[in-house]
Amino acid sequence: MSHRARKRFGQNFLHDADVVQRIIQAISPQPGQPLVEIGPGQGALTLPLLRACERLEAIELDRDLVEPLTRKAASEGTLVIHQADALKFDFSTLAQGRKLRLVGNLPYNISTPLLFHLLAQSRYIKDMHFMLQKEVVTRMAAAPGSGDYGRLSVMIQYHCRVTPLLSVAPEAFRPAPKVESAFVRLQPWSQAPVAVNDYACLEALVKQAFAQRRKTLRNTLKGLLGEEDIRSSGSDPGARPETLTLQQYAALANRLAQTH
Ligand code: SAM
Repeated sequence: MSHRARKRFGQNFLHDADVVQRIIQAISPQPGQPLVEIGPGQGALTLPLLRACERLEAIELDRDLVEPLTRKAASEGTLVIHQADALKFDFSTLAQGRKLRLVGNLPYNISTPLLFHLLAQSRYIKDMHFMLQKEVVTRMAAAPGSGDYGRLSVMIQYHCRVTPLLSVAPEAFRPAPKVESAFVRLQPWSQAPVAVNDYACLEALVKQAFAQRRKTLRNTLKGLLGEEDIRSSGSDPGARPETLTLQQYAALANRLAQTH
C-alpha cells in the first residue's frame, strides 16, 4: 500500500511484528466478542485481531485508508469500517446491550480528549487496550505524591483500573514518533471505587485543583470551597493538590455539591 503517513491524523504505523504479537496476546480476543478498533490505519492490529475474532468494527477518520484496508481484510473475516471521527462517535450504537472491547494505537495528538470522550461512555465498555504516549500512561497510572499525579490520574482512576502493560520504542512505528510509547489496559469499574454525588462537581473541583499545582488547596480552591469546607471533608487546606487521594477528591466534590 502506498500511503503517505498524515501527521494531522497522528499516523505512526506499527511495523514491529513482535510488538504486534505481544499486544494481541495481551488483548486475547475471542470469537463472538464485540471488538472495536479505533484508527485501524493500514491494519497492523486489525488483521491479527480479525484472525482471532472473525468480526471487527473499526472507526477510521482518513477516508483514503478505508478502501485499501477493506480489500486487505476481506480474506481474514468480517471487517466493518465506520469512516468517522472517534471524538464524536456514539459507542452505544455499536454496543446494543453488550459491553464493547475497545482497541487502538491511538492518534497521540487527540489522545486526552479522546480518553475523556470514551470515559463519558464507559457504561458501554468492558475494557480498552490502547497504545499511547508513554508520558500519558505514566500520568494515568500515577499515585498521589508523585509529580506525574494530576487531573488525568484522578479522573481516569475514578472510572477505570489502569494497568500499564508494555513500553514501546519509537522504532516500532513508521514514521517513528518523537516520543516513547506504552500500551495500557483500562477496565471501567463495575462499581465506582468512591461515591460521588454529582460528577460535574468532581470534574470542576479536580480541574481547578490542578490548574495551579504548586499552590495549596486553600488557594487553588478559592471560589469553590473555603478552608472550613476543605477541613470538614477530611483534607488539610495547606496540602498540595498532588498529595490528595481519589477518596479525598470525592469528599471535596460531595462537599461542593452540598454548598452550591
Ligand atoms: N492502527 C494502526 C497501526 O497501529 O499501525 C494506525 C495507528 S495511527 C497511530 C492512528 C490511526 O488513527 C490512523 O489510522 C489515523 O488515520 C486514525 N485517526 C486519526 N484521528 C482519528 C479520529 N479522530 N478518529 C478515528 N481515527 C482517527
